[in-house]
Amino acid sequence: MRPLCQRDASSCGACCGLYNRADHSAASTRRLLDARTDALALAARSATGFRAAAASLAGGEPEPLFPSVRICPLLGWLDGARTRVGCLAHPAATGGPDLRDCGVYDAATCESFLCPSHSWLGDEEAELADGACADAHLYGLVVTDVPFLRAALAAVAGLSGARVERRHLDHPAFRRALRRLLALKEELAPGSEGLFGAFRPDPSGEPVPRRIDYEAMGRGVSAFDALLTCVGADPRSGNDLDRLEGEVRRRLDACARALSG
Ligand code: SF4
Ligand code: SF4
Repeated sequence: MRPLCQRDASSCGACCGLYNRADHSAASTRRLLDARTDALALAARSATGFRAAAASLAGGEPEPLFPSVRICPLLGWLDGARTRVGCLAHPAATGGPDLRDCGVYDAATCESFLCPSHSWLGDEEAELADGACADAHLYGLVVTDVPFLRAALAAVAGLSGARVERRHLDHPAFRRALRRLLALKEELAPGSEGLFGAFRPDPSGEPVPRRIDYEAMGRGVSAFDALLTCVGADPRSGNDLDRLEGEVRRRLDACARALSG
């Protein structure tokens, strides 16, 4: 499969720590990426220049949500229009030197790392995530959470009676409706289980599903349990189960209507 990091319409910076902060909204991450891009544009294209800029940037950034996960200040905007997130220390961005040793890992680690989604996602699933999200924020949340993406596509298929295919994104109404469904990932409480796709693999490498404790809430299992479980629709994650269930139902109905329209 083609790397998931830079796709036709979307880009991802999740493993460089983009979402590892309490306020990981699109507006907030944009401000962060703007500041880094502006600062690094003024830095000398040398290890000394980038190390100094990285230290200065890191000192002024908010505390990480998960202190054990690294946040690299060299992640910024690759393009002039600021639509594509990526590594500003990569030779393709610096125009020559490889300055990735100045970040929170070393260049060899950055060069070789591919997140687990690369082994779990199929080509069509990756294309659906890219085409539906088409950005540098929602896409990274979705493409790193294989169970969520699969649950969303399966729920749409279950309601509409048709498997979701890449060609369906050619219909603007369906593309918008699917994006809105996937955008649940942008609306979860900080620290939610479902936020970062923190799924655990079983011994065969497949993800172990989470579980919503319906009994503790005195209610039955939701018809949308798979999707709700993926987004951490559980009071322990700070999310309101009933509210999220209503949102899921509305957004799925919209997808099914658009697919059949
Ligand atoms: S989290 Fe995965 S898709 Fe995103 S930039 Fe890292 S390796 Fe690429
Ligand atoms: S130096 Fe490595 S960790 Fe930092 S932004 Fe580049 S790829 Fe990500």
